[in-house]
Amino acid sequence: MADNIVVGAGDGKPASASDKSQPLDALPAVDSRDDTLLVHSGKNPSANHGAINPPVYHASTLLFPTVDKFLNRHTAEFRYGRRGTPTSKALENAIADLERAASVILTPSGKSANSTVLMAFAEPDSHYLVVDTTYKPTREFCTSQLAQMNVATTFYDPSIGANIADLIRPTTRLIWMESPGSQTFELQDVPAIAKVAKTRNIPTAIDNTWSGGFFFKPLEHGVDISVQSVTKYIGGHSDLMMGAICLGPRSVDLLQSCAGRFGLCTGPNDVYLALRGFRTLAVRMRQHHASGLAVAQWLAQHPLVERVMHPALGSGSSRSLWRRDFTGASGLFGFVMKELSQEKTATFLESLRYFGMGSSWGGYESLLIPTFPGSIRTATNWSTPGQCFRIHVGLENPNDLIADLEAAFDRIG
Ligand SMILES: *Cc1c(COP(=O)(O)O)cnc(C)c1O
Repeated sequence: MADNIVVGAGDGKPASASDKSQPLDALPAVDSRDDTLLVHSGKNPSANHGAINPPVYHASTLLFPTVDKFLNRHTAEFRYGRRGTPTSKALENAIADLERAASVILTPSGKSANSTVLMAFAEPDSHYLVVDTTYKPTREFCTSQLAQMNVATTFYDPSIGANIADLIRPTTRLIWMESPGSQTFELQDVPAIAKVAKTRNIPTAIDNTWSGGFFFKPLEHGVDISVQSVTKYIGGHSDLMMGAICLGPRSVDLLQSCAGRFGLCTGPNDVYLALRGFRTLAVRMRQHHASGLAVAQWLAQHPLVERVMHPALGSGSSRSLWRRDFTGASGLFGFVMKELSQEKTATFLESLRYFGMGSSWGGYESLLIPTFPGSIRTATNWSTPGQCFRIHVGLENPNDLIADLEAAFDRIG
């Protein structure tokens, strides 16, 4: 693909604020604290000979100078590589600031972050409430691993809001959210669910990967635990795997003991890469927001497109939730094309120059894959006819991306 790429191709015009494809709200009004904390959180140059970035500690054994210190090593800030080094601590502190968390646990992948939270509250014969539009592997963890331990899961409609109260049982131990949902991007009334859960003393957790922790702050909306795949936007460059469990004060002890028992840890080079990605999150997210909306609005008016599923372009109650809770949109959304044969779907996808096909997202590059939401959910119906797609709008010039899509549409139209 690389030798096809011509910077500034497309319609030959540079993207500009006055471009019709650019929405008026192209630059979201993000809490200005975040720009600065992304640059400064987790840094300590004076402890590192003035170096701006923390050193990459490769460490398993850490030595103690006296018997007394060795025997009391549980009180030391660092005692064994698996339990963290100054490198991993720097990233934990940085992500904690971003997510407004009391404490952060790094895990080897986003999936392991989700599984760890789901395991932490599991007791035989207990019950979980999990949103129907959650990431498919999260769902599968509930229906396999948790089911095997006699933890029952009820999948609920993402639009349930405060009516979640009707599904709570005496044995309910966790309410899991993901907003917007995977593949179809429905928003949830997160504060309403968190409020009901609090009155019933049930912990809440949310998969906050979509917002990168930048456009949505679940812990400020009453959620106890926010989980992110760091692989996606914080990593930002498609070159590492990592997860982060971001904890409000209520869940720190329980989750730290659970993660400690599992022995979860992350490699220092990946931690360093994640810290590097962290520093530019604000500028990348603003560009994903603007370019994503430009592409979404162009798709919405295309005759071959049935429907665009972009959280910022909803109507009615979805629009109110969006306005109330989010400060901007990442580059990931969905769309449905009018009935399309398998052959035409393949022609469409394979003729794109800039959009790659592959799992994951959140990197600087654009991706486009077919999705099949009807085959996953059980509590709600997916009845929109046509072929669904999930698109990740990367950091290319949006005009080039639109021209690329237009050429691919022309080949099948
Ligand atoms: C990708 C993804 C994950 C899993 O992250 P990995 O780092 O790939 O394990 C979890 N949740 C959501 C919503 C995701 O998109």
